[in-house]
Amino acid sequence: ASAASLALTLSACGQSSEGGSDEKGGSTEGATIGISMPTKSSERWIADGDNVVADLKSKGYKTQLVFGEDDPAKQVSQIENMITQGVKALIVAAIDNKSMNNVLQQAKDANIPVISYDRLILGTENVDYYASFDNEKVGELQGNYIVEKLGLKDGSKKGPFNIELFAGSNDDNNTRYFFQGAMNVLQPYIDKKQLVVKSGQTELTKVTTLRWDGATAQRRMDDILTKSYKSGKVDAVLSPYDGISIGILSALKSDGYGSKDKPLPVVSGQDAEVASVKSIIADEQAMTVYKDTRELAKVASGMVDALLNGKKPETNDTETYDNGSKVVPAYLLEPVAVDKTNYQKIVVDSGYIKESDLK
Ligand code: BGC
Repeated sequence: ASAASLALTLSACGQSSEGGSDEKGGSTEGATIGISMPTKSSERWIADGDNVVADLKSKGYKTQLVFGEDDPAKQVSQIENMITQGVKALIVAAIDNKSMNNVLQQAKDANIPVISYDRLILGTENVDYYASFDNEKVGELQGNYIVEKLGLKDGSKKGPFNIELFAGSNDDNNTRYFFQGAMNVLQPYIDKKQLVVKSGQTELTKVTTLRWDGATAQRRMDDILTKSYKSGKVDAVLSPYDGISIGILSALKSDGYGSKDKPLPVVSGQDAEVASVKSIIADEQAMTVYKDTRELAKVASGMVDALLNGKKPETNDTETYDNGSKVVPAYLLEPVAVDKTNYQKIVVDSGYIKESDLK
């Protein structure tokens, strides 16, 4: 296709963007990069998309950004379209990590490098690099916060405390890393009976939340409260993601938690979403894990730029992320635990969230 007709096709598909037209020479300058994000239902992915677009544009690329509406088949067909339209590289945050086999073979056949973004794509050799955070550490931060807050860590309290466990979507590879990280910390206390899971639901397969959906988590929490807490109260809830935490907190509040005699349990989270930072300020959600997605976007677009210029992208982990077909070389960023004591410094002063959005 001519450049003009390609531009037309791209803009007919929605979120294409112009820019990066300054020709610096070289066959990949001004190339279009396809970016596939999972959903707009959570702020972070919208910001991820915007940040990747901005970074690539600043490096002279054009971009096409699509969101899969949490529908794996839709995401696959969006990626197919971008391949047909001649994108030169793909950055993909998969909805279902196992759904990408065929489409990534098409990418390979068209010589298009693929960056797995935030979530590792499984079961295919056709993933070149992985840009993410230290996902196990995310879970460890959540678990640690809980045992510290309960006073178990420094031994000032012995418990037993009641805890319930929630995990993310079973088709997201990060889910097992988050859960594993948290259980590394929590399991020893469960073994010593200082933490008790009254529902008995401790296996990962029993505690996942399809598509990270807050309403699904809310229903499960309702159910647990009805069945397992006719007596006693919940002291902590391991929640992997802010949207899930908000659902859990709604169930708890409907059950009378949040009063003097029945304080809210220690509820964890992830992503530093505005609603959750507000909830932290209001002493409801206890903590979240902040992941600076602006940095992640930089890592991913830097990887693309290196690959298209025949250079080797920088990595800092070449062992951990085995996707079943290969160990995918990764660059992992550091997650940070955030609560009421440090949110101002970490998420506001850094410009991640505007102070006015928290009013
Ligand atoms: C991301 C988390 C996010 C979750 C739900 C995970 O893959 O790593 O940051 O909370 O998806 O969107």
